[in-house]
This record gives sequence, structure tokens and C-alpha cells, in this order.
Amino acid sequence: MKTTGLLADQFKSEEAARQYLESIRWPNGPVCPHCGNTEKIYRLEGKATRKGVLKCAKCRKQFTVTVDTLFADSHISLDKWLYATYLICSSKKGMSSHQLHRMLDVTYKSAWFMTHRIREAMKTPEYLTKLGGEGKFVEADETYWGNNDKQRKGARGADHKMKVVVLVERGGEARSFHVKDVTAKTLRDVLNEQASKESHLMTDEHKSYNKVGKEFADHSIVKHSMKQYVKGIAHINTAENFFSLLKRGLVGTFHHVGEQHLQKYTTEFDFRYNHRKENDSLRTDAALKGIEGKRLYYRD
Ligand SMILES: [Zn+2]
Repeated sequence: MKTTGLLADQFKSEEAARQYLESIRWPNGPVCPHCGNTEKIYRLEGKATRKGVLKCAKCRKQFTVTVDTLFADSHISLDKWLYATYLICSSKKGMSSHQLHRMLDVTYKSAWFMTHRIREAMKTPEYLTKLGGEGKFVEADETYWGNNDKQRKGARGADHKMKVVVLVERGGEARSFHVKDVTAKTLRDVLNEQASKESHLMTDEHKSYNKVGKEFADHSIVKHSMKQYVKGIAHINTAENFFSLLKRGLVGTFHHVGEQHLQKYTTEFDFRYNHRKENDSLRTDAALKGIEGKRLYYRD
């Protein structure tokens, strides 16, 4: 069975897709999603049964590999779900629902539900560790995007724009957040929650970083006007590169991202960034591992 790349078997038939997803979700054999039992689980193979149905001898309930996942209760075949996940995970700037609709021959509405569910799979429910640490660099940067439709007459500067803050540990993870403003309090809250105070913080000259910067082991401020001359460790190029890719995705791929969805898109870019060292197939596997235990309450 060929399991890597664009021409992998799991994209060619529902049966192969199911086998593949079972191997990702249950690497050590099936686990009953109802009672957690791992022993004496039988495959129901009568002609009258749906394919892929398993039965737990302990609680006597039936299940398939999509029970209790984001792919549950969908009329879209599993091979298309896996293929869509692969396409989104391997496209640096993301993939629009429109393109997925054309490529997979599903309705636009279905493609929209798929992309939103796959994005949910890419989400880390909760960050359990902090970025940075002793001897490590954490870059923080903020960017402005689009228009939140709340532009008042006489609004100045970035008031009416959507705002995103990213923290990137150099050589490590990126975490981006759609924030309501970029005041000292908001930035401090994000930094406090996500970054280790032992880190060396790198920011631009935005005043909101001044006070929280003092709480870190070190704080270097990069002056935008001087940036091109800066050599060595004092830079925020990693964060700026993250934003440049995000913006190319938001402009080139997604066109109009409303404020209510922006966080989901930035999370998608976090995911690809944080799995950048893996190949497309392994990155897809990582997303598939994220479908379990999550639900989105709308149907396709
Ligand atoms: Zn059970």
C-alpha cells in the first residue's frame, strides 16, 4: 500500500481511506470510543452491515473510525476527507473552499464545511508549554489586516483594522492570536500566557512592549527604520516571515476573511509552520490525529 504523496492509496477508495485512518487513529489496534476498551473488538463483516463497523465485546456497542471525530456524520466519502486534509496541509498559503470544491467535485457548501472542520483538526486545544526559555529567543510582532467593518468617521490609523499578534520561538513554534487591540495590556496578557520569562524577547519599537519587556530576561527592540542594517541576533525576521506568508494566504487564497473567522485561519498557518520540518504526508497525519474528540456543531 502506497501511503505517502499525492497518489497515495488512501485517496483512491473509501475502503483504503478507512484502513489508513484506522492506522492513524488506532496505531495499536482499535479502541472503543464508547468505553475505552481495547480488547475483543470485532469487525462486523456481514453483507447487511456497513463497511468499517466494529463491535466492542465489553459494552456491546458498535462504532467506526469516524465516531467521535470531526469526520463523523458526513455524507462525503472518507477518501475525499483525507485528500482534502492532504491538500490543505501541503499548501503553504492554504487552500480555499472554492478550489477544494473544484478539485474534489463536491459542492461549494460541502467544501466549506470540510475546510472548517480540517482547520479545527489543526488546532491545538490548549498550549501546555510556554514558548522560549533560558537562552532562547522569542520574537513578538503585530500586524493589521483588512477592515473589521466598524470604521467610524474620523477613525485613525489601524483602529478599523483586524489585529493579529504572533509569538515565534526562534527554531521552534509559532502561535498567533487575533486580538481586539494592541495595547500594552493585551500584549502583556498574550506574552504572559504563552512565553517563558526566561526568554530573550525581541520586538519592534511599538511602545506597548516596553513595560512587559522588562519582565523578560532580556528585551531587544528592533527599529523598523534601521532594520535592514541590523546584523546578528537582534531582529524579528522570523515573525515577519510568518506574517508575510499569512498575508499572502489571506490575500491570494482566501480573499475575504471576516473577523469571526480570522483566528481559525491564523491557527491553520500556525499548524503548518509548527510542522514545517515534516513532509506533506507526515504533516497530514498530524492533522488527522487532531480530528478525535472534537465536534463542530453544523452539518454538511
Ligand atoms: Zn466499548
